Amino acid sequence: MSPDLDRQLCEKYPKIFRDRNGTTQETCMAWGFAHGDGWFNIIDTLCRSIQQHADQKRKREPFAGLDDEEFDELHQPIAAQVKEKFGGLRFYISNGDDVVYGMISLAENLSYRTCEECGAPGTPRKGAWIRTLCVTCDRRNKDPNVTC
Ligand SMILES: [Zn+2]
Repeated sequence: MSPDLDRQLCEKYPKIFRDRNGTTQETCMAWGFAHGDGWFNIIDTLCRSIQQHADQKRKREPFAGLDDEEFDELHQPIAAQVKEKFGGLRFYISNGDDVVYGMISLAENLSYRTCEECGAPGTPRKGAWIRTLCVTCDRRNKDPNVTC
């Protein structure tokens, strides 16, 4: 993903992307968002939903007794790796619960219907490897002279 969109996500969701600037020995997030710009809205919506869930959970029993640091250590979801594989988004996280895994599943399923390049409706297409693309990006992928 482009550096500008990468930075936007890290600034909006600093707790989820806490490890973005870790080393490659520490975390796969060191590689950044290993997919195209077209999935930005999916990731943005997913992280907004995850952080809202975590912030609500923080206030509820039995978590309300924990201070912020203790809660974050045990229950704040933290992205471990975000990438494309076989045409779909893969979003790996630590400290997830069933609600968070359900959100991730929805986001991953949406990625198979969303062009990884431009965000338009898309479908998985076979080429040298499988990628989820719209008609135009698929054509451009096969012939760089095609324009939108
Ligand atoms: Zn496209």
